[in-house]
Amino acid sequence: MVQTVYPFGGDAAHSDPRQADKTITGGKGANLAEMASIGLPVPPGFTITTEECVSYLQHGAEFSDSLREAVSEAVGHIEKSVGKTFGDASDPMLVSVRSGARVSMPGMMDTVLNLGLNDETVEGLAKTSGDERFAWDSYRRFIQMYSDVVLGIDHGLFEEALEICKEDNGFYADTELSADDWKTLVGEFKGIVSSELNEPFPQDVFHQLWGAIRAVFDSWDSDRAKVYRRLNDIPGDWGTAVNVQAMVFGNMGDTSATGVAFTRDPATGERAYYGEYLINAQGEDVVAGIRTPQYLTKAAREAAGAKPLSMEEAMPEAYTELAHVFDLLEAHYKDMQDIEFTVERGKLWMLQTRSGKRTAKAALKMAVDMEGEGLITREEAVRRVDPMALDQLLHPTLDPDAERNILGAGLPASPGAAAGKIVLDADTAEQWVERGDKVILVRVETSPEDIHGMHAAQGILTARGGMTSHAAVVARGMGRPCVSGASAVSINLSSRTLKIGRQDLKEGDEITLDGANGQIMLGIVPTVEPELAGDFGTLMVWADALRRMKVRTNAETPADCKMARQFGAEGIGLCRTEHMFFDASRIKAVRQMILAEEDAGRRAALDILLPEQRADFTAIFEVMAGLPCTIRLLDPPLHEFLPTQDAEFEELADVTGLGVDHLKRRADELHEFNPMLGHRGCRLGITFPEIYEMQARAIFEAVCDVKASSGEAPLPEIMIPLVATQKELAILKALVDRVAEEVFTEKGTRLDYLVGTMIELPRAALMADKIAEEGEFFSFGTNDLTQTTLGVSRDDSAKFLAPYVEKGIFARDPFVSLDVEGVGQLVELAAERGRATRPDIKLGICGEHGGDPASIAFCEKVGLDYVSASPYRVPIARLAAAQAALK
Ligand code: ADP
Ligand code: MG
Ligand code: MG
Repeated sequence: MVQTVYPFGGDAAHSDPRQADKTITGGKGANLAEMASIGLPVPPGFTITTEECVSYLQHGAEFSDSLREAVSEAVGHIEKSVGKTFGDASDPMLVSVRSGARVSMPGMMDTVLNLGLNDETVEGLAKTSGDERFAWDSYRRFIQMYSDVVLGIDHGLFEEALEICKEDNGFYADTELSADDWKTLVGEFKGIVSSELNEPFPQDVFHQLWGAIRAVFDSWDSDRAKVYRRLNDIPGDWGTAVNVQAMVFGNMGDTSATGVAFTRDPATGERAYYGEYLINAQGEDVVAGIRTPQYLTKAAREAAGAKPLSMEEAMPEAYTELAHVFDLLEAHYKDMQDIEFTVERGKLWMLQTRSGKRTAKAALKMAVDMEGEGLITREEAVRRVDPMALDQLLHPTLDPDAERNILGAGLPASPGAAAGKIVLDADTAEQWVERGDKVILVRVETSPEDIHGMHAAQGILTARGGMTSHAAVVARGMGRPCVSGASAVSINLSSRTLKIGRQDLKEGDEITLDGANGQIMLGIVPTVEPELAGDFGTLMVWADALRRMKVRTNAETPADCKMARQFGAEGIGLCRTEHMFFDASRIKAVRQMILAEEDAGRRAALDILLPEQRADFTAIFEVMAGLPCTIRLLDPPLHEFLPTQDAEFEELADVTGLGVDHLKRRADELHEFNPMLGHRGCRLGITFPEIYEMQARAIFEAVCDVKASSGEAPLPEIMIPLVATQKELAILKALVDRVAEEVFTEKGTRLDYLVGTMIELPRAALMADKIAEEGEFFSFGTNDLTQTTLGVSRDDSAKFLAPYVEKGIFARDPFVSLDVEGVGQLVELAAERGRATRPDIKLGICGEHGGDPASIAFCEKVGLDYVSASPYRVPIARLAAAQAALK
């Protein structure tokens, strides 16, 4: 029978490989067992497997008999290890109940601490601890947490009761409440529960335990969890594990504490212990922002100019042990760890470790440093950095020379510059972004309910919370700039106004955040382009040495080409010539060409366009000399270029000498019911060969000119779009070859070029062996290939694709990440058939997918020669291609 529960700590065996498997025991459970197995001090406990969660949810929220048995046995394991009994009135064992999915997942149930307390055991705890105040404080915390996360009672009710008690007594901090005050509050809290639920707070400890386990399982299907899974591409069928663990207490007076720490600085990657702790506190007090946490190290405290003693100074022995544990953990996991710990009366206990979330900058620095330290190999360093995270570094930062009207500052919780309109809640953030605004989400503090708004926002500003607060951790994970704990911010939600420092502001006003130093500025501060040297450069050199595929860019302006080359592009994978047609100076000639009724009129317009197109290509080729450049001949339906406004028609009438009515009629004739499948792509070249002739001539003349002036030419690869048949390509290739011949004869020179096609129709993929008889290269146009294979129009898909992804019909949006299973088959088949005819055929991808790591991994598997991505995505593609080659 499959084991459903795994004990850890105490004298547990930790020998079953399933216990070390995060897919079975979750991240938290697997790491607790692993820490215990290498001899670190972990309070004993047990993990219920993710499989049990899945089976519970499938079986109508029923626990299996085997689970019930295994849990009672495992409770015995904890009891034996700590020498106390669960529910024992004289010396009770208490536990925490913690969720723990495969990957850390905000949205899952919050931890319940001190479970096992009731009206009787609280007295026992008071006696054994010799601290009545502590016992009753623990009990009220338990009632509060359990009621909130398990019983679903609004936590505000309890907070209100506490506030009233403090006000009545003139207290400022929780620490001022005495044992009797807490006792009174416990009575009130229980009253709240009975009046909300019409039944008393559960006193039976096993009833409490099963209630909490049920709540963890149920939270897997909560709305919060679902939103998070959707945003992070986490499948719905993983389930979560449950960890039940003996309590240790950080709230047993001044020799006790609780804290969180990173073995290296998660914002910069610097090799320095980094963290926060609170004396005489429990659980999430550190991250909740109720009290301001203190620094871990003396150096950090001094650097911040803070007074309250660091842990290094206040608890030197526990600190030394903690530092030793940090080193052991890094050596063991060979990665930066994010740690939670508690000190109970001077004794250190480890409550969690995991690979720490980090900014892209820190990820790069750590990968490069750890390679230097001999901790990891170069390949591992390349594998370590998430290609998508590079995005953070490739975007602009605040111009150091720009003027800054600084309103105040908070903690530099997540780096980068962000500017936008102030919004005060997550829903507003999402709505404003949908209508095209850029926003900064400003909150007192954030919670998992705010995730969608944080995602929509450019940046996040909170009034409360430290560097390890919810806002800080989530923002770093998402790559959003964040300033947290800015006490200068005060928000008035009812009037939708706020004050930052002395400045009065309202929702909608613009501010800028600098996540690198925590500054908050009035208005929009200008930005500068990123610097790509240092660790970034080092890692890219390593990645380039490991990858097989080339990386090109999709670009059609010299500026984009320059940028892409700086980012390491090795050619152009897609130059869309129609973008050049939209230019204000030529649109008139383009319209003239389209609306002409005879060849003569069309040729006259094309004569105007020829020198313009040649100039475009010359400018691009100058930047791309020596590199391959795939240029796609005109592709979109002609009517996209047509005038729509009366004024535009009138202007055109002047130029052409044709009447406005006549022009409008002609425009009507060009209207199509389904332009995506209409008169476009090579169909234009077949029906109006003079357009492609003009474009081919412009390309060849430009190549010759650049070769003559600079000595080096690019390799033009002329791409015929939307081909379905061999014949289409044969006709148009002959046209291109003829024009090339003419130009070469005129110029008295002869340069290399290729003619090929985009594979973007299923028929083209199927006929690839025939099409390869003509085409010298294939470029997979996976945007259109996805549209035509799925029969889904991308621009109309927004309405239904999100629900499709939510329901798991597609794992990811097929326009973002290639549908490998379906569309991928056509790519694979076309590659095979193309190579069968022409073994050296060049193969690449030029859809949006060329910048998506998962799709890039597929391209490597199929053996494509290159991928092509937009300029900013080129470094992402370089790293992803290296990772794909390492797989
Ligand atoms: P999260 O996944 O949100 O970090 P955790 O399960 O790690 O939730 O619990 C949050 C905090 O609760 C921990 O960091 C720790 O401080 C406290 N905690 C959890 N279990 C125990 C325990 N057995 N004894 C003492 N504190 C605990
Ligand atoms: Mg939590
Ligand atoms: Mg935790």
